[in-house]
Amino acid sequence: MSDKIEKNRLAEVDSLIEKYPDVPQEAIFKEDLLRLGVSFSEDALRVCSGFKPKSYFIFSFDLRPIKELEQGENLRAPEELSLVDGPRGFRRTIVSVRINPGSPYRVDIIEGKLSLLVEGEGVCEVELQEMPEYYLRDLRNGRTISEIAPTIEWGYLVYLTVYRKCQYFGFKEECQFCDINENVRQQKEAGRPYETVKPIEEVVEALEIIDETDVEKRTGAYTLTGGSITRHLRGEDEATFYEAYARAINSRFPGRWISKMVVQALPLDDVKRFRDAGVQIYHPNYEVWDRRLFPIICPGKEDYVGRDEWMKRIVDSAEIFGPSQVIPNFVAGVEMAAPHGFKTVEEALASTGEGLDYFMSQGITPRFTVWCPEPLSVLGKDQGPAPLEYHVGLLRLWRETLLRYGLPAPPGYGEPGVGKAVFSVSSFMDALPGDLEVARIPGESRPAARS
Ligand code: SF4
Repeated sequence: MSDKIEKNRLAEVDSLIEKYPDVPQEAIFKEDLLRLGVSFSEDALRVCSGFKPKSYFIFSFDLRPIKELEQGENLRAPEELSLVDGPRGFRRTIVSVRINPGSPYRVDIIEGKLSLLVEGEGVCEVELQEMPEYYLRDLRNGRTISEIAPTIEWGYLVYLTVYRKCQYFGFKEECQFCDINENVRQQKEAGRPYETVKPIEEVVEALEIIDETDVEKRTGAYTLTGGSITRHLRGEDEATFYEAYARAINSRFPGRWISKMVVQALPLDDVKRFRDAGVQIYHPNYEVWDRRLFPIICPGKEDYVGRDEWMKRIVDSAEIFGPSQVIPNFVAGVEMAAPHGFKTVEEALASTGEGLDYFMSQGITPRFTVWCPEPLSVLGKDQGPAPLEYHVGLLRLWRETLLRYGLPAPPGYGEPGVGKAVFSVSSFMDALPGDLEVARIPGESRPAARS
């Protein structure tokens, strides 16, 4: 994993497309874009400025710090790209924008069309999401919707990072791939309003604006999240702090959105409180499965909870939510990060696959985001991402395990299948069969999927 693998991208991508014809070509390009990021020409940025901008909804997800973005990309790049058509006949594929001025992937204008190029060769055309009407309306105090309640996944998911910091602080506690605390600092330095704690009333007011203006109900779910609270925040423990938001939102908008919460793997009594507050999907993220790597990569989680207890709590929470509504995330690729990670793709897949088997055999479907080394995180300072072949192998392994256990597509992610998926920070939904059933949430009256 170093800069040398960043060259000859097209040859490597094409060889993987040929080697794994069961994985859509769009998904392979998407994984590569997520691990390497994308650059923009000045002309492309000018076009992008009229569309929905990158909101920095939780982490930076960039491969360069803001101070190295000489074109002001942090304020001008779009939230996501829609990859369509072009010489390869792309089916619509939504990918999150991770800025990297040094990336071999570049968005530029070719023959009057916004296009994606790799090493100068055209891959496909690029479409952008129109600015949603709710982004044009501010809260009464002047705060913007893109700050308080941004949407991602092409407008499907309202993303509510209500606490922008994490109390796992510093090298000895924070997850080693995570830049949450450093990102707050750089965003504030760059002049972005980036309140550490979002008041509940502002979150509810922002959702009222979205509800009023999103008449077609394109927003189908919301995620409530933020950093871990190991002590207290404003006098409250983690469960109490986040539960209050869920309760306020779900009592004000019953059934309007699928309600998802990303917090720690908490004791069962706390998990029951979330369910009673109307949360429907629980994401107790385990980040990395491997027993040796978990304490190295997540030292705070190891110290405060411990790996075995963390995994046990995930399984226990299925009693409360039902297994299909417990969806823990892991950070795909970080298990290959130097100096402690696996050295070969085969070893990494074997370990990660063991975790998938453990959970999926119990009806719990983990999902993953593609790791990109954020330079303000511990692991992202001086190394490149995991090999593309690992990511393609993981897509196949995840799908194969899911289908082997006869599980449906996870709920709360829109529709599965290439050309329909909207989940933008990994291709697991793009790689699923388009006709796979999506797990239904009890009482859900609208389609779980919307694009
Ligand atoms: S728990 Fe880990 S991944 Fe989550 S915000 Fe804190 S440091 Fe980041």
